[in-house]
Amino acid sequence: MNGSNIAEPWGSLCGVRPVKRVADMLREGQSHEAIRESLRKAFEISDERISLALSIAERELVLTKDLGAKEIALYIDIPFCPTRCTYCAFASFDAKQMQQYAEPYLAALYRELELGGKIVKDLGFTVRSVYIGGGTPTTLLALELDNLLYKISQTFDLSHTSEFCVEAGRPDTITEEKLKVMSGRGVTRISINPQTIHEKTLKRIGRKHTPQAVFDAVTLAKKQNFSVINMDVIAGLPGETPEEFMETLRAVEAAKPENITVHTMSIKRASNLKGVFEPTAEAHIGAAKMLNFAYEFLDETGYVPYYLYRQKHMVGSLENTGFSLPGKECLYNIGMMQELMTVMGFGVGSVTKLVKPGRIERIFNVRDLTEYLNRQEEMRNRKEYMYTFFNQETDV
Ligand code: SF4
Repeated sequence: MNGSNIAEPWGSLCGVRPVKRVADMLREGQSHEAIRESLRKAFEISDERISLALSIAERELVLTKDLGAKEIALYIDIPFCPTRCTYCAFASFDAKQMQQYAEPYLAALYRELELGGKIVKDLGFTVRSVYIGGGTPTTLLALELDNLLYKISQTFDLSHTSEFCVEAGRPDTITEEKLKVMSGRGVTRISINPQTIHEKTLKRIGRKHTPQAVFDAVTLAKKQNFSVINMDVIAGLPGETPEEFMETLRAVEAAKPENITVHTMSIKRASNLKGVFEPTAEAHIGAAKMLNFAYEFLDETGYVPYYLYRQKHMVGSLENTGFSLPGKECLYNIGMMQELMTVMGFGVGSVTKLVKPGRIERIFNVRDLTEYLNRQEEMRNRKEYMYTFFNQETDV
């Protein structure tokens, strides 16, 4: 329940992947009407959300139709950030810890990548997508970032890789030098995330940059000709009104990024907001208004929703939705959410998701930084389970 008297948009449907369910029904050959009827009856999902899930599922089926069974994605985690956002529940460590740990962390990561390169080659996989996230990878120095990108290009065959994404989420970590490094090493998509354009909210959520810094970083990034710049915003941030969110979204759209991702605030157990910010009924209703505005406004301005997921404890029981200009969609986001491709995770807290017909398994890396450094051999041994998984009977 979202704690307000407004209707639950997703009814009683649990789980983070409502679109996957709909895509599976489409693959089984069910008609839109049959799917609508079944979702209405079983979960009382609103008509708007059923239409949304259907349209995204249809789009995803088209976008992934040429995805081969042996194509995989790499996810590489750089767990450092300049400061910790109050709503963060990721394994992220602040810049002070980074000074102490960056070097041993990168050394451990390189060893894990080397094993990954061998496994990919032995199993005959093709790397279709690379995603460096975290954390904020651009917290690394330009030289460290350059070395990391070089290492990836030397360890894996990237000749069939259609996208190379880097989270450059915090504008206070972006410099022209780092942008040049990324573009020079073949990065195609970067994320620069304002979350809000309101200074008081930025302070409240623990981000120490100005709203203008985001737009300056976008201007700098545009000079490097990345194929895609993504910008994240959050609906339902503590203390924000629907009008403030609308101002943020209008300003972000005016910067003309190829992707805009609209998250809804989620109060996660591991975040500093847990127990401090309890959304009121008004906040739930406000978040619903924000998302309604986002769908209408982004539709009018040419953006199409192409992936969607939900999390626990979301304000208004809503969802996170990725929007894209047509042809600029991020395959990693779709493949992850639809569980359509194997993702090899590297680094602290990363998850390797093994996918083959009829079977999905996960291999977890530890979430604690010192544990990750102390248990490197164990992390590498865990990854070798991939040989067993893919050589079992239901082989790809
Ligand atoms: S930028 Fe992202 S990973 Fe870093 S602290 Fe904020 S929410 Fe967490």
